[in-house]
Amino acid sequence: MTEKIYEALQRASSLLEQQGIEPHAAQLLMEFVTQKSRASLFADVQEQLTGEQHKDFWDKTDELLEGRPVQYVIGEEGFYGYTFKVDENVLIPRPETEELVYGALERSQKLFATKKITVADIGTGSGAIAVSFKREWSEALVTATDISEGALAIAKHNAKANDADVTFRQGDLTAPIAKDKWDVVLSNPPYIAHDEANLMSGTVLDHEPHNALFADEDGLYFYRKLAETLPPLMNKPSLVAVEIGYLQGPDVHKLFTEAFPEALVETVKDINGKDRMIFCENRE
Ligand code: SAM
Repeated sequence: MTEKIYEALQRASSLLEQQGIEPHAAQLLMEFVTQKSRASLFADVQEQLTGEQHKDFWDKTDELLEGRPVQYVIGEEGFYGYTFKVDENVLIPRPETEELVYGALERSQKLFATKKITVADIGTGSGAIAVSFKREWSEALVTATDISEGALAIAKHNAKANDADVTFRQGDLTAPIAKDKWDVVLSNPPYIAHDEANLMSGTVLDHEPHNALFADEDGLYFYRKLAETLPPLMNKPSLVAVEIGYLQGPDVHKLFTEAFPEALVETVKDINGKDRMIFCENRE
């Protein structure tokens, strides 16, 4: 005998809560398993699950109970209004990063006279930044890089699934883009200091790729390397936009001010009021 939607939801939510896991994940699973929107799920809570749905829901709930992030269990996450396939090869795209894309689009509109701009996303992961930028700015020539072959395979899938024509290159930092000149460079690099691992939730630490999260030099390694290698690769005008950790604003601001002495360098807060982005506008 299977359960009704609300019975399974209540039981799973309280099991998750007992383990200190966000109980809302049960609802996301149920939407996925029943293929219902949130609204119709609540209209249909008295509905009996089919045998297949019931098994699927409880198998996936077991994965949640083991600490696997709900986005990996479901296999997708929404970003900037688009759907991205995700698995353990890629960071689950975060809402803060949507703000980076938004800020970069907004500044690019003011900065460039032409629509045909060249854009690179360094460390593309799921492809979230590159694919969203391309969808929002269709004439941009967008290239995305990552050091991880597994991530690039997912990013390529996501570009295709979202009908975004993006070029992919594998390699370390700016190496794969060093032969060209760029109008816009975007990056959400790894930025967590190794000694911050003890502050992180097990869901992130045990499941998301460590090469997407952690960076040497107190988390500043990638910004230092970008500041060193980007200046000769940028056109004028140009925009460099990077996501940062909430304590890294002053350090990264300094790195980019020194690298681009004529540029307007801004530290911008996210919706939670934390320093989260650096925009470096190099005007003519
Ligand atoms: N851009 C995606 C996003 O915002 O959701 C993923 C960002 S994740 C924080 C950082 C990405 O950088 C990972 O996909 C990781 O594989 C990649 N990465 C790590 N080291 C790298 C390197 N040396 N060169 C290029 N990419 C690197």
